[in-house]
Amino acid sequence: NAKKQVGNTVFFNSQMQTEELERLRLEVDLQQAIQQQHLHLNYQPIVCLNTNKLMGFEALVRWQHQERGWVSPGQFIPLAEQTGLIIPLGEWVLTEVCRQMKLWEQELVNVWPLSVAVNLSGVQLTQPNLVSFIENLCHNNCSNMIYFKLEVTESVLMKNGELAIETLRKLRNKGIQICIDDFGTGYSSLAYLHLLPIDTVKIDRSFVNQMTVDARNLDIVETIIALAHRLDLNVVAEGVESQAQQDILRNLHCEYGQGYFFARPLHPQTIITWIANWEL
Ligand code: C2E
Ligand code: CA
Ligand code: CA
Ligand code: CA
Repeated sequence: NAKKQVGNTVFFNSQMQTEELERLRLEVDLQQAIQQQHLHLNYQPIVCLNTNKLMGFEALVRWQHQERGWVSPGQFIPLAEQTGLIIPLGEWVLTEVCRQMKLWEQELVNVWPLSVAVNLSGVQLTQPNLVSFIENLCHNNCSNMIYFKLEVTESVLMKNGELAIETLRKLRNKGIQICIDDFGTGYSSLAYLHLLPIDTVKIDRSFVNQMTVDARNLDIVETIIALAHRLDLNVVAEGVESQAQQDILRNLHCEYGQGYFFARPLHPQTIITWIANWEL
């Protein structure tokens, strides 16, 4: 028995070593990908549910690894957060969005202004120079900070507490809109919402997806929208995949929708074509 246990322990350890090695390799590769600009951004449209007009985009990072192919952000964002690489990665994302917005301002005159939302991780929010970094970036590149939005999950706000909230308050005072991402999946009490410096609530796609098959999810969606409106917040429904879902959301007076029903995250080169077809 004891022998077996020793055996198990050895096996367990070697598996851990393999995983650790794999993680280290990925970390080295990610560091290189950031330095050599092998990352790029896709942009997923966010539309007004009432008028079908394009309101803006969410920027989503993509990594094409030379040997592994596409690595999903669900895999490398947590790694980047654990290793601190999220700081240079996040700065690259912000810089790239600014560069893209400057181009769009000229290319998309007919539909401009559009907003672009950027995901921010908790580690970034506790960086002392985040506010000045964004300020300088906007000053040097963008015409206006009001086209910039930042998305933060509710669990990030809960975990990082006052410091994170103070940083967001500063950014919001500069005219940047703040969105709570994946709303409903964290642990924040609804009553706490009015204390946060936010403009928009994004309902997590798990609720939106299930609301057509499960009445409880419909209740949740309805309650979040009603509460958000009482607090003068806009609502974006994530993960809209069907006409039926859009209809329900529109009837609940949800302002905006995002999801495969409207568009997948798009490569910037395909966006002009998408807009031309969408606005027909
Ligand atoms: P998120 O912020 O919740 O982003 C939305 C995710 O839902 C995206 O996955 C998007 O492709 C996916 N999605 C959109 N519409 C639909 C739909 O109708 N159905 C389904 N099934 N999925 C939909 P993606 O691009 O894989 O990103 C995953 C997560 O990685 C993001 O979740 C975000 O938390 C993180 N992430 C992505 N880019 C960045 C970034 O630049 N910085 C940081 N810190 N995190 C990022
Ligand atoms: Ca997001
Ligand atoms: Ca989300
Ligand atoms: Ca999410």
